[in-house]
Amino acid sequence: MIPYGQHSISEEDIAAVVETLRSPRITQGPKIADFEARLAEHCQIEHAVVVSSGTAALHLACLALELGPGDGLWTSPMSFLASANCGLYCGASVDFVDIDPESGNMNPQALHDKLNLSVAENALPKALIPVHFAGTSCDMPRIAELARGKNIKIIEDASHALGASLEGAPVGNCRYSDMTVFSFHPVKSITCGEGGAITTNSSDLASKLRRLREHGMNRNPAAGSEGPWYYEMQSLGFNYRMNDLQAALGLSQMQRLTNFIARRREIAARYRTELADCPLDFLACPANSESAHHLFVIRPRLDEIRMTRRDIFLALQERGIGVQVHYIPIHLQPYYRRLGFARGDFPAAESFYEKVISLPIYPSLSSGDQDQVIKSLREILD
Ligand SMILES: *Cc1c(COP(=O)(O)O)cnc(C)c1O
Repeated sequence: MIPYGQHSISEEDIAAVVETLRSPRITQGPKIADFEARLAEHCQIEHAVVVSSGTAALHLACLALELGPGDGLWTSPMSFLASANCGLYCGASVDFVDIDPESGNMNPQALHDKLNLSVAENALPKALIPVHFAGTSCDMPRIAELARGKNIKIIEDASHALGASLEGAPVGNCRYSDMTVFSFHPVKSITCGEGGAITTNSSDLASKLRRLREHGMNRNPAAGSEGPWYYEMQSLGFNYRMNDLQAALGLSQMQRLTNFIARRREIAARYRTELADCPLDFLACPANSESAHHLFVIRPRLDEIRMTRRDIFLALQERGIGVQVHYIPIHLQPYYRRLGFARGDFPAAESFYEKVISLPIYPSLSSGDQDQVIKSLREILD
């Protein structure tokens, strides 16, 4: 089976992890700071804080904004569950902004309309989490402009988008947001096995994030300390630390980030060329944006062919192609339905979901395997 996504581990990666295993510190050692510095450099930003997962990163980002009961968080229904769950972890209420059907990203017009409604009802959200679907940045200038002056904080969920850029600047530089979150799960741009990071230009947010990832503890409290052993807890934190083995792997993977994205770009370009005459559509990517090509999503024109999405999906699977569907809209999950959401709430996300299939894309996908994907899909759609 050719998977839809997979990590690429080199001998250098393995050596980096083994070297750390033999070192005196395997958690919160020197590799954590090195990896954070490397990420900050890549993102052209002041601070990067690494944590145990992308989900932990989202949770801490919400906590650093002091999101809590009575507050609202809006995100995209076309995302992984964690983009919304992070709001619920904090006791906030979660709502969604519908997507642009051409890109799968948060639709600025839908945001505009929803903001106008909530101004009237005095129910503006405290935080907004646009998700860079499939590795292509949302229209951040427009989203930031709509949020401006309304006291809304913006967290970019860039779990798909490490290595992407917008207006020539790397995603993660927070030009249009307060924080950006990344995931280092094995299918993402680079991996730590598990891992996540938050980037920010705010020293205040960065130090809050560092405290919250370690039980809310402060090891260097100001005057009044009782001795060198002294530590104190001022807020309720967690153990969301990344360990040095993960950081060593992430640091080693960062050396190949540019190559990884270049290879993904090549695979995407080849799909676009060789499937150009098939009855299907690709996702849009604006000219001022470079995607990280996390997913390669096709939208078969089901009205032109006598097949359902399920037929196509199963036929690809039968031929050994490990396709996937990204995503079941979050608001349609039973848990979210019990919170009051229903089919019809976000029609663009729902109809997008009905059509999409993700084809295999990852740096080590061989061109022979890609041939097989293309050939199988052409046969099925023929
Ligand atoms: C992967 C992912 C996450 C969660 O990241 P983990 O590292 O798996 O916790 C959050 N949001 C999106 C959009 C993701 O794709």
